[in-house]
Amino acid sequence: MTDLDLYAALGVDRNATDDDLKRAYRAKARAFHPDTNPDDPEAAERFKEVSLAYEVLKDPERRARYDQFGPAGVFGSAAGGSYGDPFGGGLGDLFDAFFNGVGGMGGSSRRRRSGPTPGPDAEITVRLEFAEAVFGVQHKVEITTMVHCDECESTGAKEGTSPTRCNECQGAGEVRRVRQSILGQVITAVPCGRCQGFGESIEHPCPACNGEGRRRSDVSFTVEIPAGVDDGSTLRLSDRGPAGFRGGPNGALFVRLAVAGHDRFERDDDDLHARLVVPMTLAALGGSVNFATLDDEREIAIEPGTQGGTVVTLRGLGVPRLRGRGRGDLHVHLHVETPRPLDEAQSDLLRQLAELRGDELGQLPASEGLFSKIRSVLS
Ligand SMILES: [Zn+2]
Ligand SMILES: [Zn+2]
Repeated sequence: MTDLDLYAALGVDRNATDDDLKRAYRAKARAFHPDTNPDDPEAAERFKEVSLAYEVLKDPERRARYDQFGPAGVFGSAAGGSYGDPFGGGLGDLFDAFFNGVGGMGGSSRRRRSGPTPGPDAEITVRLEFAEAVFGVQHKVEITTMVHCDECESTGAKEGTSPTRCNECQGAGEVRRVRQSILGQVITAVPCGRCQGFGESIEHPCPACNGEGRRRSDVSFTVEIPAGVDDGSTLRLSDRGPAGFRGGPNGALFVRLAVAGHDRFERDDDDLHARLVVPMTLAALGGSVNFATLDDEREIAIEPGTQGGTVVTLRGLGVPRLRGRGRGDLHVHLHVETPRPLDEAQSDLLRQLAELRGDELGQLPASEGLFSKIRSVLS
């Protein structure tokens, strides 16, 4: 291994750029990955070489040493850092960077988390009014969840006692295992089974939490709902989830938002749509009408001769953009209302109007029932 030509292993020349190296590494690592070549010692050996070559050459400093001194510059005792355990070091990161999402290769290389295990994630649903989602709100949440035990300060040990050092792992919380694999000797550290990785054992458990260091409790807090959220949006509160075992950090709390509808407004992303009924006379003569937006009362100008279906856009009165600046628009859809019912005087006036305009009225309807049907068609 130590007289391996790193450039040859990757199939690149000595002038290869970082990108060349990365591309070559990805292609070869995929081709020789143990997952795709089960029980193939030669592929395993090649995979090991390719990984080692990339591990060295991607680091400019080590690459320079290799170029100058050859393998002795990076693998020798003078090289600094040992290669006895090629898979114990930074290679895990390599795998994460390259194999995540490349069908099924990612799982085997996840790095183990160190320190106390965090609590699990949890999800709650919060119901919001339409306007609360648009403008944001301070929403008070009350939930029952696992919290850190204050009786024992999350240690799990009864008051006046303290946890003692675990004999199995001498307090380290992990035990080292050396195993032989097709890739050579691999040293792994696994959490100590006796103390579950805590390095301590508890002889007198805290009665309040049965030694868990956490207990169930009602908690309430305020969630800052940002303006512009929508139905189905989910907020992630990183430290509001259930507390971890014996001082482990809290998991995340996912807050799923259920937003109620509105009887006057409909939402389309950052835009709002509303309907405004305008009397025929106003639509014909022009004028203005007051309209209550979500913000405040606005005067909407109606142009003379406004037709039904006209849309008046009020810029910036829509929904604040959750990501980005400004707000969407409010589109007011005008519906021109045909007047009814008509009394004698109104009918006369409209007939005069029709006459002045030369509008063809045709045969007058015989019955009121039929008349209103025709009117409803006209409106
Ligand atoms: Zn306790
Ligand atoms: Zn232990």
